[in-house]
Amino acid sequence: MASRSLDISQIRSDFPILHRENRSKPLAFLDNAATSQKPACVINAISDYYTHTNSNVHRGVYELAEDAENLYHQARKSIARRFNVTVDQVVFVRGATEGLNLVAQSFGPLVLEQGDAMILSEMEHHANIVPWQILSQKIGFEIRVCPTLPNGSLDREWISREFRKKNLKLIALTALSNTLGTVNPIEEIVAEARQYGIKTVIDGAQSVPHQKIDFQKLGCDFFAFSGHKIFGPMGIGVVLGSKDSLQNMPPYQGGGDMIDQVSFEGTTFAPVPQRFEAGTPNVAGAIGLGKAIDYFDQFEISDVVNHENNLYQIARTGLAEIAGFVEHGTTPHKAAVLSFTIEGIHPHDLATFLDAQGIAIRTGHHCCQPLMKVLGVEATARASFALYNTEEEANRLVDAVKKAVSILK
Ligand code: PLP
Repeated sequence: MASRSLDISQIRSDFPILHRENRSKPLAFLDNAATSQKPACVINAISDYYTHTNSNVHRGVYELAEDAENLYHQARKSIARRFNVTVDQVVFVRGATEGLNLVAQSFGPLVLEQGDAMILSEMEHHANIVPWQILSQKIGFEIRVCPTLPNGSLDREWISREFRKKNLKLIALTALSNTLGTVNPIEEIVAEARQYGIKTVIDGAQSVPHQKIDFQKLGCDFFAFSGHKIFGPMGIGVVLGSKDSLQNMPPYQGGGDMIDQVSFEGTTFAPVPQRFEAGTPNVAGAIGLGKAIDYFDQFEISDVVNHENNLYQIARTGLAEIAGFVEHGTTPHKAAVLSFTIEGIHPHDLATFLDAQGIAIRTGHHCCQPLMKVLGVEATARASFALYNTEEEANRLVDAVKKAVSILK
């Protein structure tokens, strides 16, 4: 049960890395949309696993292997609980990217035929574009792209119009844009898609640290995310799938651990989720992710969102005073992701200046090249906030950008 109050200085003491310096200045880590920092409980869980429990899972009869198996299973249970699914709906993968590739490669051909169409949006991360393009080249279906409105929201009416077309079979959509911060109305879109029998794949990479997702209630077919964006380790992620869809899907990769019987005459496959988890899994990663989910579960999501939004508002209000400041993504339905450009200053120059002040932000296309084209920029600067960031850091960002502008312009 969530009960821990959002005492930020106490929370910061959970994250050892926040006490290091960056270029000899206190680190202000404002690149949380790229990856989040890890609390000590996650770091310790990984270290403890390798110190005390390391063994391959699924195969050993000895105590050590049983202990490893138990911890691995416990992690799956933590994830299942958070997202309101059963453990057989939790497929471990390397991250959102692998998860979306799995869904495209294994599920895509079951629903998309030559002459069919699917929807993506202009604000998708490359991880939710390229796997579908690869599949489309093989099968010959059409990818239709939902436009972005000037405030960075989806053109909802466009989606409703497309849903009424006969050959539209699938929509793959980000729940939350890593560049614009836009929170897409996925509940509404999934419900509407279901009326037409259209399959739904949600890229939840950015959603998980800012939203509480009830997979059953949402009702989508798939939801993929990466552990490292939600205070877990890198190299581990999850695809949540509806039971019907997972049951009918062929394996994504072949190898050990995903089979029932193997012979040269033919092979039968393990039930889900093992069918999609070929090879030795990232056991330590899964355990770390389970711990991260348990850690995050202590907090009310509304407290987290309110805190992050407060920081975002401080930053955007301060930066808006700068002549030539443009925020990309201004819909009120957005998370604490602030993408911006300042006329006459290259985002990379700005980030380099901020780095010298101890402030870590991201610049570039954010793996959203099609969106950059829509926005008419090559790159943006992006500050993205997490629950451990402070008002002081948001103010430092504003002051440092103002200083940068006075020097660089
Ligand atoms: N989708 C979105 C919206 C993202 O922001 C990211 C990463 O930034 C991904 C997918 C891919 O995640 P990963 O690189 O962890 O697989």
